[in-house]
Amino acid sequence: MRFSEFKYERPNYEAIKEEMELLINAFENAKSAKEQIDIIHKVNKIFELTDTMLALSYIRHSLNTKDEFYDNENDYWDEQDPLYEELYNRYYKVLAKSPFRNEIEQELGKQFYIYVDSEVKTMSPEIVEDLQEENKLTSQYDEIIAEALIDFKGEKLTLPALDKYREDKDRTVREAAANARYKFFAEHEETFDQIYDKLIKVRTKMAKKLGLDSFTELGYLRMGRAYTPQAVEKFRKQVLEHIVPVASSLYDAQRKRLGYEELRYFDLGFKYLSGNATPKGDPEWILEQGVKMYHEMSPETADFFDYMVNTELFDVIGRPNKLDAGYCYTIENYQAPFIFANFNGTKGDIDVLTHEVGHAFQGRESRHIELMELRDTTQDSSEIHSMSMEFFAWPWMESFFKEDTKKYKHSHLSGAVEFIPYGIVVDEYQHIIYGNPDLTPAERKVAWRELEKQYLPHKNYTGCDYLERGNFWHQQSHIFTDPFYYIDYVLAQICALQLWKRMHDNREDAWNDYLRLCQAGGKMTFPELVEYGNLKSPFEDGCVSSIITEIKTWLDNNKDLE
Ligand code: ZN
Repeated sequence: MRFSEFKYERPNYEAIKEEMELLINAFENAKSAKEQIDIIHKVNKIFELTDTMLALSYIRHSLNTKDEFYDNENDYWDEQDPLYEELYNRYYKVLAKSPFRNEIEQELGKQFYIYVDSEVKTMSPEIVEDLQEENKLTSQYDEIIAEALIDFKGEKLTLPALDKYREDKDRTVREAAANARYKFFAEHEETFDQIYDKLIKVRTKMAKKLGLDSFTELGYLRMGRAYTPQAVEKFRKQVLEHIVPVASSLYDAQRKRLGYEELRYFDLGFKYLSGNATPKGDPEWILEQGVKMYHEMSPETADFFDYMVNTELFDVIGRPNKLDAGYCYTIENYQAPFIFANFNGTKGDIDVLTHEVGHAFQGRESRHIELMELRDTTQDSSEIHSMSMEFFAWPWMESFFKEDTKKYKHSHLSGAVEFIPYGIVVDEYQHIIYGNPDLTPAERKVAWRELEKQYLPHKNYTGCDYLERGNFWHQQSHIFTDPFYYIDYVLAQICALQLWKRMHDNREDAWNDYLRLCQAGGKMTFPELVEYGNLKSPFEDGCVSSIITEIKTWLDNNKDLE
């Protein structure tokens, strides 16, 4: 069956509610662990069904935010999903109190109850309305960005289409493209500030209702985190000490390479005078090269990629009214990971083909795990699979980039290093925001700008008042839609870079560990999974410094680029 044939049907909430109530009742009256585990599997089927419909509605809405039917369904789910969550929360509460808890844990693993406990702590009937409001606000943000049309060079461009010009060889074009982008954001400055203010207030309100100190605590629970804000704080110090100086020297090398006196805000994405590495063909050609690459990579990736192509699980061509995002969303009932992107002719297109495919591959490799709670990776582990795949794909980059291959690898690896301090800023910013929910929008901007000065000292916003005033984060959708998710990219990058280092010593070994990680799904917490993959925990002192030397050496040996 192909994606277009996957049937969407709004589930009947009342019928599901009735069925769930019967199952909850049966669970409470069950006389053995086995009886309860049978019920857990029955409930799993209901979860899969509702998640499938939610996924189909979300995906089809994001493919065209102006499609009336799915726009309506998206609004419906914004309202209805919290009611499902509330219903499922009743089930999790009963599960948490089971007299057979130990036996169930033995059968299903420790992670199952970590999941159950965090579900119990993050939900209550009292916050249903707040969740609905949170959903509405994030949809509002998404739609403003998706529907943006920017006047540029006599055309009306979406934001992803405009992005292409940020890499233009002509400096004046880059400047004009950046200014067109930020003009749009500046025009919506107050709206974004208001949406975020409301989000902070409603998230804080939910945390308080749940008896927590702040949304930070709730954010960590929602992510099912097995580490603390204190561990993250310590990790930041490693980044400040070992990564920030390397990133700064990379920007300085870029400035020298380009022959500029100053690297300005519209230059950052432009790495080489001869132009950035670009894929040497159109989207269809890129997908053909992808088929070849995944066929050669391993038997597992070959099967998987054929399945993705045959099932039409890619929608990667950019067009108006398509959400400005790249994501992979598994449609549970079909075990089908759907890949969404907006190809725009830049190297980012290949990143999608490796990054999002990494997510999808993990999803498919974990399909043997029966329960949804254990099949989907924990939030903070899922980026390991995607970011590592970006590096496992290196031997095939020649087929996409031809003469630009070295430039691609150089920009990919230096980009990985440069990304880490930015990721820290996004994460620390949210700790400040939710630790001080009463800050005014103006005070929030000051906090952002101060973090930039600390971790991203190369930023030069001369000529762009909007950015100078601390507004860069308006375009970072995760801050609005996925609070506290961002550190996951940073931690995963550290893991991916360890695998990058290891694949140079022994690719087979590194690949086998990667495969194991993919097949483990969500059966382990982040620290456990990292250990299982024979990786060092980023929280361990010395972890960051253990990879940076090799990276510096590689970049030094490959810097003769123009
Ligand atoms: Zn990802």
